[in-house]
Formats: sequence, structure tokens, C-alpha cells
Amino acid sequence: MKILFAASEAAPFFKTGGLGDVAYALPKELVKQGVDIRVVLPYYSTMPEKYKADIEEVLHFRVQVGWKSMYCGIKSLKLDGVTYYFIDNQAYFNRPSLYGQMDDAERFGFFSLAICEMMEKIDFIPDVVHVNDWHTAMVPVLLVDKYHWIEAYQGIRKVITIHNIRFQGVYDPSILTSIFGTGMNIYHEAGVKYYENVNFMKGGINFSDVVTTVSPSYANEIQTQEFGEGLEGTLQYNSWKIKGIINGIDYDVNDPETDPKLEYHFSADDLTGKAKNKAALQERLGLEVNPDIPLITSVGRLTDQKGYQLVQEKTEELLNSRDVQVAILGTGEAEYENSFRYFAAKYPDRFAAVIDFDISLAQQMYAGADLFLMPSAFEPCGLSQMISLRYGTLPIVHETGGLKDTVVPYNAYTGEGTGFTFMDFSGYALLGTIYRALDVYENQPKAWAVMVREAMSRDFSWEEPAKDYLDVYRSLVNE
Ligand code: ADP
Repeated sequence: MKILFAASEAAPFFKTGGLGDVAYALPKELVKQGVDIRVVLPYYSTMPEKYKADIEEVLHFRVQVGWKSMYCGIKSLKLDGVTYYFIDNQAYFNRPSLYGQMDDAERFGFFSLAICEMMEKIDFIPDVVHVNDWHTAMVPVLLVDKYHWIEAYQGIRKVITIHNIRFQGVYDPSILTSIFGTGMNIYHEAGVKYYENVNFMKGGINFSDVVTTVSPSYANEIQTQEFGEGLEGTLQYNSWKIKGIINGIDYDVNDPETDPKLEYHFSADDLTGKAKNKAALQERLGLEVNPDIPLITSVGRLTDQKGYQLVQEKTEELLNSRDVQVAILGTGEAEYENSFRYFAAKYPDRFAAVIDFDISLAQQMYAGADLFLMPSAFEPCGLSQMISLRYGTLPIVHETGGLKDTVVPYNAYTGEGTGFTFMDFSGYALLGTIYRALDVYENQPKAWAVMVREAMSRDFSWEEPAKDYLDVYRSLVNE
């Protein structure tokens, strides 16, 4: 089975969020399960030096982007058993950030065209092309509409995974000729037309054989007006080919027994290291070092999606009503960054805000806390709550998408559960849930210990999800 996995980012080379984690860990697991899966990425100039040394030049050719003939270099690297191809063009990928450039349509349009042309040139014709999110969503469209005349490509099946339906890649229809050179024959409702624009994601959904999303709950949610971001109609129409497969987390990287980013290691059987990590974290963040004060952490993009408006709304009420510490690590919208800086200045020994992207500190926040806050308004899957569970830090989450599928709500009568959840997306519901969690922490240490052990023993590895993807591939190639 040969798979080409296309994404706009993948750890450890380039990562801005969950897609980067998935694009690294899923192929790695599939290789272990015997699949010849290769990953194709843009060659951004932010490529870390330590990988540059091992990169090989494969070949180069030119790609026609509208009327322009553009250089396209293919580089390659093998890491953890996976072959990576990097598509090089300095004009497109030597930029200060991965996304948010004026010409993103052309950058990822070029990337998509280059992927299609590369397969024949490097002589890797996969059984399935698996694309991810809007950046590569035009690949299935191009294979059907533009490259169908290449005989070797005619049997290639197409899978798209939606990691976040909010970002769709919506542009003026003129790009069909000025970038893709396809003409307008795909510009209709069952193609790429979205109101008076072209929508990359819509094209990917319509032209793929299977659409997957990163949790079963999100697969249902995106077919409703509340979560579909305008594509619910398209998704309902394609409902028969949608499947939700929960993400895993990388068990090599996120292991409390070996994580090199932690000062002290621990396991479900011996939590003394966790307590030491808590003290180290309190110290590092300038909070009062005290094992008895519950510490709530949160790591994430500081945006509305992640529900930080609720945190912003209720922080002062929480700090004024309970003996608790809160620490937030993230970057994002200025409003939240500034609010959290303000709280940190006002309550220095009880509230900490680190406005940064810091992978080491993130691990320390997952490991050293008692509770992890993730009140996302919507959450396709979410990795942070799974990492915190593995480190015995009980999540407080809004019951949506992947959060609903991975956190078992605490049941006061049976003692079951791995976290604390709320249904209503409101500050009132969030605060009430934090209070419930604190009550268990303070008054029922035994119940708490049972939950922590249960949380740490759940399986969030990639093994089962990777098998589900393999089943999807097999269903398409009749293997
Ligand atoms: P999303 O992809 O929507 O941002 P996920 O929960 O799926 O959210 O994945 C977020 C990933 O990015 C996690 O691995 C998390 O630890 C990491 N992350 C987010 N913000 C930061 C930050 N400020 N510093 C370090 N890591 C971060």
C-alpha cells in the first residue's frame, strides 16, 4: 500500500498547531504498521539547521502557475522511518510565517500543483493521496480535473482530512485560471463554487472519495449550521463518505516517565515526581510554592475558538472566591494577551501568564498542574486535553467535538470519570465546573486519586486511530 500524505506543516520541522502534530505522528505509526507512506511538505525557510544538513536534493522542474513558469525543487529526508519530500521555491516559502501572507492562494496553489506533478517525476505513484485542510484541498480537484489525462494517475484514490473547518481558503474565481490553469468547468455548486468565490476546502470535500474529520463528534457537528462554518450543506450532501477518526498523541514525545522536558519523571503508580514538577512549575512561574493550593494550567492559541473569553470573564471572580492558582501559556489575540498580562500583574503569586510559544514550558504545564483548562467553543479534536490526561492532570472542558469524545465527565455517584465537563458555553457554566472540580480536589482526595490513575491509564496512542486510517485506505483500494 503506497500513500502520499500532503500537509502544510509537520513537526518537528514546522508546527503551528495540532495539524503539525498529526502530520508527524500518524505517518510514523502507519510506517510501523507496514504502510509505504511518504509525506510532502513545503520547504519553508524556517527549516531547523539540524535537518538541513541531512537533506538530499532529488530533482527540480518547473511548474506552470497561471502564466508564470516557477522553479520547483524536490528535496528529501528520512526521519523515524518516514520519507519526507519538501517542495522548494524561495519566492513562496521564504517568509516570516507559515500562513497569513497576502498571496496564500498562490503559495498553496503552487504547492498543490507541484504535488500533482511531483508524483510522476519522482516515480512514486501512490494508491491514495491523503490531503489535509484547505492548503492541500485542491490536490483532489486537480487530479480529477487537470491531471486525469496522465494514465498512471487515474487509479489514485483521494482522502481529505478536515482538521478545522473554520479555515477554508476562499478566493476570487479568477484564481482558477490565474493560478491553477483549470478554466471554469469546476466552478459550480458540486465543485469549488462557494457563493461568488472559489473555496479550496469545498473542492476537496466534493472531489475526494472519503472525507475524514478528527473526531466522531466533530464529524456530526460540522454537518450542522452551528459548526459547519457555511459548509454544512456541502457536508450534508457528502454525508455518506464522512468518517470521524479521533487523533492520537505521540506516546514517545508525551511520556511522563521519560519526557526530557521535565525535571522529574513519574507514573500512575508513583506520583511523587508529579508533585515535584508542580513545585518546580510554581517556582518558575513566580507563584506561591505550596503543594496544597490547586494549580490550574492552560496551553493554547489565545483565541475565541479556545474559549478564552470565558476565562477572561471569570478569572477575577474565581481568584476572589477560592484559593487557587491559574497559569496560562499561549499567544494569540491581543485582547487576551493583554487581559492575562493584567491579571498576572494584579495577582502575581496566584496568576501567571506566559505570552510565548514554548514547547518545554508547555510540557511542564501539562505535567505539573492539577487541572487543565480547555473550554473551547468548538474543538475538532484537541490534543492538549489528551496530553494533560496522560500526565495525570484532569481536564476541565466544554462538551464539544473531540473534547466530548476523549474526556469522561466525573460522576459523583459512581466516582467514574477523567475530567470535568460543561454543556452550556458560558462563563457561568465554566465557573460552576471549576468549583465542582475544586470541591473534589479539596474534599475527596481518594476520588481524585482514582480519577488521576484512570486518566493516565487511558489509551490515546496512535495505534488504534492509525488502524482506522488504514481501514479507510483499504476500503478504497480493495486490498
Ligand atoms: P490547535 O491545533 O487547534 O491549536 P490542539 O490542541 O489540537 O489545538 O493542538 C495544539 C498543540 O500546540 C498542542 O501540542 C499544544 O501543546 C501546542 N501549543 C499550543 N500553544 C502553545 C504554546 N503557546 N506553546 C507551546 N505549545 C503550544
